[in-house]
Amino acid sequence: MLNYRNLNILFFIALLAIIITSNYYEVGILAYLILIAFYLLIIVIGTFSIRTNFYFTSLHSGDSNKKEIAITFDDGPHPIFTQEVLKLLDEHQTKATFFCIGEHINKYSNIVRTAHEHGHIIGNHSYSHSHFFDLFSSVKMTHELNQTRNSIYHAIGKMPNLFRPPFGVTNPLLKIALNNTQLISIGWSVRSFDTNKHTKKVISRLKRKTHPGAIILLHDTKEKIIPILIEFLPWLKKNGYHVVSIEELLHIEAYETI
Ligand SMILES: [Zn+2]
Repeated sequence: MLNYRNLNILFFIALLAIIITSNYYEVGILAYLILIAFYLLIIVIGTFSIRTNFYFTSLHSGDSNKKEIAITFDDGPHPIFTQEVLKLLDEHQTKATFFCIGEHINKYSNIVRTAHEHGHIIGNHSYSHSHFFDLFSSVKMTHELNQTRNSIYHAIGKMPNLFRPPFGVTNPLLKIALNNTQLISIGWSVRSFDTNKHTKKVISRLKRKTHPGAIILLHDTKEKIIPILIEFLPWLKKNGYHVVSIEELLHIEAYETI
């Protein structure tokens, strides 16, 4: 598996090979440029694709032999749409995971509490969800993760174990922050693109991409999540999918047990 560590080892071996070769043959600057371009390309893919597990492991799916899936909502709680999502989930007796932003939890802690009381799991999705989060130092990232853990604790009385990286972007500093906080990184296997695609396209994508063991990424921050769920939840049932909690799907504990 080509992860960050192996890539660096390969890079230095290739660099060494070019340097040694240059003692015997004429090696142009192009060889170095191609090597660096290849290195940077892999870094970019690894950074922006959480499913590659490039810097650290994120859990993306469960057992592919069982028609069980888990649904996750990012970026809430939202003062209007999260409550509507909760109503729909209740109607379909479906349990989901909400990866919440600390700032939003502090504003709408009652919604987080309601979600928890209705049997849903609350996870950590950073405190600010800043566009610059991935440029933060590991100390600042750790601080954000701890702030959100505390916000969740104040809202529901439990310390979360689960974390979803903002934007699904990862890097070596986030790895340090996760080691510091002992949070488990949760990715996804089905991305709905519900924040930027039209409702119909999102629904057809969800129907096309859902698979046994899937973790579905949705957002409870836009109005269109309502029509999406109204169509998707009955479709899952009709097609024999059983929506389980992320704990059940991945055999993990969502909260600290002490
Ligand atoms: Zn997010």
